[in-house]
Amino acid sequence: MAYVQGATGEWEMVIGLEVHAQITSNAKLFSGASTTFGAAPNAQVSLVDAAFPGMLPVINGICVEQAVRTGLGLKAEINLISVFDRKNYFYADLPSGYQISQYKQPIVGKGEILLDLPDGSSRAVGITRLHLEQDAGKSMHDQSPNETFVDLNRAGVALMEIVSEPDLRSPEEAAAYLKKLRAIMRYLGSCDGNMDEGSMRCDVNLSMRRKGDTTLGTRCEIKNVNSIRFVQQAIEYEAQRQVEILEQGGTIHQETRLFDNGKGITRSMRSKEDAHDYRYFPDPDLLPLKLDAAWVDNIKQHLPELPDDKRARFIGEYGLKPYDASVLVAERASADFFERVAKGRDGKLAANWVTSELFGALNKSGKGIEESPITADALGGLIDLISDQTISGRIAKDVFEAMLETGKSAATIVEERGLKQVTDTGAIEQAIDAILAANADKVAEYKSGKDKLFGFFIGQVMKATGGKVNPAMLNDLLKKKLNG
Ligand code: ADP
Ligand code: MG
Repeated sequence: MAYVQGATGEWEMVIGLEVHAQITSNAKLFSGASTTFGAAPNAQVSLVDAAFPGMLPVINGICVEQAVRTGLGLKAEINLISVFDRKNYFYADLPSGYQISQYKQPIVGKGEILLDLPDGSSRAVGITRLHLEQDAGKSMHDQSPNETFVDLNRAGVALMEIVSEPDLRSPEEAAAYLKKLRAIMRYLGSCDGNMDEGSMRCDVNLSMRRKGDTTLGTRCEIKNVNSIRFVQQAIEYEAQRQVEILEQGGTIHQETRLFDNGKGITRSMRSKEDAHDYRYFPDPDLLPLKLDAAWVDNIKQHLPELPDDKRARFIGEYGLKPYDASVLVAERASADFFERVAKGRDGKLAANWVTSELFGALNKSGKGIEESPITADALGGLIDLISDQTISGRIAKDVFEAMLETGKSAATIVEERGLKQVTDTGAIEQAIDAILAANADKVAEYKSGKDKLFGFFIGQVMKATGGKVNPAMLNDLLKKKLNG
């Protein structure tokens, strides 16, 4: 756990996150209007979204199912009865003057998310609730010097608000939480998790307390942070700011702040005294949402394998290290790719090649696993050549580079370039004899006790043979020659 060092002692961060996740659905929560990203302003607005008089909301079953799937993915209680409330406030981008949300009776109750820690262990972070609500529209202040425009495309789009317990203790844990939550939703297909398109946004709640204290301090809430890196930066800045105030004997006032990602600082937006009174009450246009237990159960039976289960299976089935398994399951496409490579092969070797060589190459070229220039079968072909001793692991790296450049198969490259490993004892002995004969002085030095020269002889033989000699055989044969 990371503590913040102040002038008078150490302080602990207490963090709770509220995530707004846009539900993957073709239509909005209470209307049939489209949700496609990037449409022309106000091209996707129904009369319901624009709150014309007399329009009535009709719940979208797909959105309910997505919320339930997500709740089950968070190992949470699903509430068979939940209620939609009106959250009343006035703003130009909210035509009805209220947002339909859930308040006292959300669709999903307590659950948890496991954080994978760097040492291979896991820690559970509590989920307080998940509720369904509508998004608001968007005010555009940058289109004209003296007017504000409103785009209602987003108005009415279905969101899941996912609230964590104040269980997180560092910026790294907050990042790990968001990554795991995003991975779960992507596996489920319930939210695409694209923070740069606004389909996942995060409010950060943070308070500080002296190391060892068990009561909670007063928190500030940083609204609408739109990348994981900014979440980490906002926490770091805000923790320092609060510690400085507390150490000078000041008090933290509960307030809402904004993160300025250009300057890397948080700024006050409104204090608790200005907080809205939302006058929540059940929406009279909507009946309580009642779910059938058998329907929920059926969804549960058909969930895909989620990251934690996949990680456990990779560790058990392929003998992977916990860290490598976490890296591979972070995205479903990587996990699937790995499994295609590992099928019928050495799992650890496959994991190594995928996580180090392949991910390294993809990173360098800025490509995702879906665009990998080397297919899973092609990489498997390379690994087969290592396993059957056709090439050494060392030569395999060159072959891998050549595969990237030419798109040819490993077997073809080995054939064309004559990279086949020398495993013929006679040929290896011949190469060793030649080197020893040419370096008689060094052989004498070695025999008089300069053991370090062993590596020199290995290097010389490798150089003379283009690195193609089987390393283990070379080692054995050289030892015999020198010591025998
Ligand atoms: P609100 O409805 O005003 O946003 P909640 O009680 O629902 O308030 O809490 C919102 C978030 O703030 C939750 O994620 C919760 O874990 C977190 N939180 C609550 N108290 C604290 C605290 N003292 N320090 C840090 N986070 C907190
Ligand atoms: Mg809040």
